[in-house]
Amino acid sequence: MDELINIKNWGFSADGEQKTFLISGPCSAETEGQVVETAMAVAKTGANLFRAGVWKPRTRPNSFEGVGEAAFPWLRTAKQLTGLPICIEIASAKHVELALKNGIDLLWVGARTTVNPFAVQEIADALRGVDVPILVKNPVNPDLELWIGGIERLYQSGLRRIGAVHRGFSVYQKSRYRNEPLWEISTELRRRLPNLSILTDPSHIAGDAALLGEIAQTAFDIGTDGFMFETHCAPAEAWSDAKQQIRPAALTALLAGLQPRAAGSESSDFQQNLATLRQEIDKLDYQSLDLLARRMAIVRQIGEFKSEHNIAIVQMQRWAEIFSSRNQYAENLQIGQAFVADILRAIHKESIQQQTCILQSLVEAVKK
Ligand code: PEP
Ligand code: MN
Repeated sequence: MDELINIKNWGFSADGEQKTFLISGPCSAETEGQVVETAMAVAKTGANLFRAGVWKPRTRPNSFEGVGEAAFPWLRTAKQLTGLPICIEIASAKHVELALKNGIDLLWVGARTTVNPFAVQEIADALRGVDVPILVKNPVNPDLELWIGGIERLYQSGLRRIGAVHRGFSVYQKSRYRNEPLWEISTELRRRLPNLSILTDPSHIAGDAALLGEIAQTAFDIGTDGFMFETHCAPAEAWSDAKQQIRPAALTALLAGLQPRAAGSESSDFQQNLATLRQEIDKLDYQSLDLLARRMAIVRQIGEFKSEHNIAIVQMQRWAEIFSSRNQYAENLQIGQAFVADILRAIHKESIQQQTCILQSLVEAVKK
């Protein structure tokens, strides 16, 4: 896909001094007042475009699914008042037709649409011969080929202003993020399609406003081409994704706080790899703690069980067996034996402590 055009040359220059390409606006267009108030504040952040969801793909029915076409006049007003170009999510040929008819400046394909080649092809067909910029969010599942496939379908329709948005992936394991970033996938996309601009959407990765800064910094460290952030004039009252939205002014502060990348292009690969590996370490640390917490929950259950049957907490034979089998297992794991032994002792100590607490609370309960 040699003819892809870099997002800097799509014709969306910003007035402000932002360090990077920026799309910002509410998850959903809710009311005219909310759209206009948010857009006015977004204009002050130096954003390149204003975003708002018109049709919202929701996991469960009977939740707010967007106001639909009613939002177009509000978006027009927002554009007139701020000068900001407007972008929305489209998921069907009908959406494309309405978006183009209403002068929308940029479209994006949402994560739940990218997973479906039929839907993406329908959109690509509707866009044949139309020169409109479009972003493809990663599919909800961690499948790079599906992501690339969506981009290819649009490219084959003749579009050249195509970009990607990394918004994280659904994974089975519990994570501290709403969608696991899996930075290695966006890094691999960059390697496979070097001309493709890739933005990061920290809002949908985080699912929580408190985590936006760290995600944005990592994205910045690995050389993102820009950001899509959800912002709202009154985040707590948002009709969708309230937890992850922030005020436009808070976004300005967040972006100002990002540390610049180390200078020099020779080091950019190093920075990128280091950031990806650190992200992996962070994930594993949190998973290790989650696993330990699960182990302790079972330990407490056993504690109750032992106490019901009047059995002593420490069973020396069981502990000896755990200690030797785990040490043996770890022999081939390239971790020091003394370290493994220390960890096992610490886990055992905490397990006894947890069971003692259970026993004491049961004794107290009997006394009362
Ligand atoms: C959105 O950007 O509002 C949205 C629905 O995102 P995603 O498709 O990434 O879930
Ligand atoms: Mn959203």
